[in-house]
Amino acid sequence: MRLIERGSGSPRVAVVGGIHGDEPAGEIIVERLIADLSVDSGTVQLLIANEPALAAGTRYTETDLNRAFPGDPDSDDYEAVLATRVMQVLKGADAVLAIHTSRSVPPPFAIFSELTEPVRRTVTALPSEYVMDASGLRSTTMDSMLANTVSIEAGKQGSEGAVEFGLECVHAFLRAHGVLHDREPTFTPKQLIKASEEVPKGGGEPRLYYRNFEEIPEGAVFAEDDEYTHRVESEGIVPILASEHGYEDIFGLYGEFDGILEPPEGAANDATEDASPNGEEGTGTGRNVARTDANGNVGTSPEADGS
Ligand SMILES: [Zn+2]
Repeated sequence: MRLIERGSGSPRVAVVGGIHGDEPAGEIIVERLIADLSVDSGTVQLLIANEPALAAGTRYTETDLNRAFPGDPDSDDYEAVLATRVMQVLKGADAVLAIHTSRSVPPPFAIFSELTEPVRRTVTALPSEYVMDASGLRSTTMDSMLANTVSIEAGKQGSEGAVEFGLECVHAFLRAHGVLHDREPTFTPKQLIKASEEVPKGGGEPRLYYRNFEEIPEGAVFAEDDEYTHRVESEGIVPILASEHGYEDIFGLYGEFDGILEPPEGAANDATEDASPNGEEGTGTGRNVARTDANGNVGTSPEADGS
């Protein structure tokens, strides 16, 4: 674990990269911040989490760090002990942003487990359209165990686009929390997706038929292999982190559109990027959201992995 602090006093916010060793964007971004960042107000903690996994280019060395929170100081697993140390140094932070990437080209999206006011502030400031509410899922991820944490899926693993988009996210995050004063923060409503369940994978050749955040028609098959045929029996279900080969035992998650997450009260909405001449706000569940990823691609493969 590598921790560098910039600035002093409050607020104290943190940017975390390298939770997964096979996702280089987070480490690159934190290294750039260590080299370049000048803090206008408060403290920024810059953390590169899993250095041995990054050196090996593997997701983890002994156990998945993002399934090991809050950690166990007595464990034999490197990542379980590491999770404890990460919790110790970041505990009490006013806001935390953790950077992840995925194996393919889903639209970038943010993830939270508990909607605190700092979390609302972070996600509505980020330049991604989608926000996943993971409160109904497992509680061993960093965003579920460390208060005020948001994770961002910044783009395709290993791509320059993910680094650029991730950096854009970090700057928006730092502005939103008053740490960077180079320009006014902007806040926009986001499409909320509530993650509901994991979709199990059995064996044989896995096949996926729908992309991330693409609504699966009622009665259609989302995914299948030799063991499972996952037919969707209700309306409004969308895949999240859908992947044929990204995970050993799941195809990804099912989620449902869950309305719009509005910016914090009193935060000025960004009017400059609104294409509507009347400044009409994009509210309501029928809101048309972008489906492009960080590279500007329109997602041609359902393959994805990350978080
Ligand atoms: Zn990750």
